[in-house]
Amino acid sequence: MHRVPTVVAESGMTVDGWIPVDAMTLETSYPGVFAVGDVTSVGTPKAGVFAEGQAAVAAERIAAIIRGEDGSSEYDGHGLCYLEFGHDEVARVDVMFVSGRPPTGTFDAPSHAIALDKEVFGSSRIQRWFGRAWTNLGTPR
Ligand SMILES: Cc1cc2nc3c(=O)[nH]c(=O)nc-3n(C[C@H](O)[C@H](O)[C@H](O)COP(=O)(O)OP(=O)(O)OC[C@H]3O[C@@H](n4cnc5c(N)ncnc54)[C@H](O)[C@@H]3O)c2cc1C
Repeated sequence: MHRVPTVVAESGMTVDGWIPVDAMTLETSYPGVFAVGDVTSVGTPKAGVFAEGQAAVAAERIAAIIRGEDGSSEYDGHGLCYLEFGHDEVARVDVMFVSGRPPTGTFDAPSHAIALDKEVFGSSRIQRWFGRAWTNLGTPR
């Protein structure tokens, strides 16, 4: 069963099992407290690509609070999903979940070019998050 960690449930911040947030800023009903990713009821699918996009907005907003400024980042609900078709071909779904509207998106047919795009998507995050370069076999360079 998909649910928030016990520590979150016991925090008293959840409503119907998830933390409500402002869909644009990711701020909770507690001023200056933000929630991102699977614990929220923001309305996007519970996937890492959405958690990442939300985290960037929350981080900018928190940094602005610390600097005594007004944050300006707004969450756009954008996400990418890659679909493996074998034979080194990958398709891509590019979607946008905007609060109160039906999701919209595009589908790019499987190709070698998108397989390369997926590789860059993954390796760039390994590089940015952990400061390491990785090959497509997951072997440290
Ligand atoms: C099998 C599987 C496959 C998936 N595949 C994809 C995919 O292909 N693409 C995609 O975009 N998403 C995928 N997802 C979803 C993705 O993993 C989640 O949406 C994403 O990890 C959510 O990020 P998060 O930071 O909200 O939560 P998490 O990544 O779950 O991070 C929460 C962290 O909090 C920690 N934690 C919990 N309790 C405590 C505590 N008391 N003290 C300290 N730390 C604590 C946990 O250990 C965890 O590290 C997949 C999920 C699963 C289960």
